[in-house]
Amino acid sequence: MAQRNTWQRERVREALSDARGFVSAQSLHATLRDDNTGIGLATVYRALAGLAAQGEADSLQSPEGEALYRACSSTGHHHHLICRSCGLTVEIEATDVEQWAQRTAERHGFRDAEHVVDIFGLCANCAAARDAQRDAH
Ligand SMILES: [Zn+2]
Ligand SMILES: [Zn+2]
Ligand SMILES: [Zn+2]
Repeated sequence: MAQRNTWQRERVREALSDARGFVSAQSLHATLRDDNTGIGLATVYRALAGLAAQGEADSLQSPEGEALYRACSSTGHHHHLICRSCGLTVEIEATDVEQWAQRTAERHGFRDAEHVVDIFGLCANCAAARDAQRDAH
């Protein structure tokens, strides 16, 4: 029974790898709908949550509070720089952040501390495009 939806999950996994950066379940569902896969939104949500739980996808919250997913190339702990305009995503290591988080948790007597740090901004291309647009006005 558990194997029944495997092809759907594989299809969601493929669509996620093809995506350029972090995507929401809705936009992934729209892509799959354009391909006439017949996969429902609820299935996309379930598949994404499953991939994230198994460490095959990264998940994070957009500044608007929406859950976003991405098939990341690194499996270890890492952070992201995300363009809020085009979705371009850069995976980054942040040694300073690791040390700061560790120290801060210890100072307050916390153990097994985890953290989520992602940076949203405008990538160089989008910033240049915006500047060009502003200059034209
Ligand atoms: Zn990642
Ligand atoms: Zn951009
Ligand atoms: Zn970290």
